Amino acid sequence: MAYHFNGSGPKTLILGGVHGNEWEGIVCAKALLSSFIEDMPLNLDLTIVPILNVDGAIRNQRKNFNQVDLNRNLPTKDWTKDVAEEKYFPGPAANSEPENQALVKWVEAHKPKLVISLHSWNPMLNVNGDCNPEAEVINKLTGYEIKESIGYPTPGCLGTYTGLEQNMPTITYELERNIEFEKIHDIHVPAIMAALKQTQTHR
Ligand SMILES: [Zn+2]
Repeated sequence: MAYHFNGSGPKTLILGGVHGNEWEGIVCAKALLSSFIEDMPLNLDLTIVPILNVDGAIRNQRKNFNQVDLNRNLPTKDWTKDVAEEKYFPGPAANSEPENQALVKWVEAHKPKLVISLHSWNPMLNVNGDCNPEAEVINKLTGYEIKESIGYPTPGCLGTYTGLEQNMPTITYELERNIEFEKIHDIHVPAIMAALKQTQTHR
């Protein structure tokens, strides 16, 4: 399900739960959503999808119902059916999965100026495209390092698709795995809020 806030500022997309077992990103997306429902301090044309991979989240698994890693299935130039590890299974074809088909259709229709996708792993801000205004603020408030690569190839990922190929700067925000709820609420939600203020003025 997607939630939309109808501001006149830059179009912005926030995703959680691309990987269904990365609950930290889902909690963060939902906390942002609750806070915006209570009081929207930003003038953004903002869409939040707290759980892209609902079937995966229900099963507490990385992949979707079809056992595809959605973050290896996007229609990028580097998409490949070769798979390094089973958990990265990219699907039978690029963009074969309904979750990504909906996402791609939306992205192409709305052309967001910034995409933030909330995951969990080793803490970092993986940036694709020019994410400086937002990434620098988040780095200052969280200490999370800004990296252009996570250190291994990720063909068919969202950062490549939107960030590099569609010219929509994309932050893949890797929250620390098993982070405390309080830290999500007290550190990361405010950091993303501060970043979105930059989006409002700089995009
Ligand atoms: Zn992930």
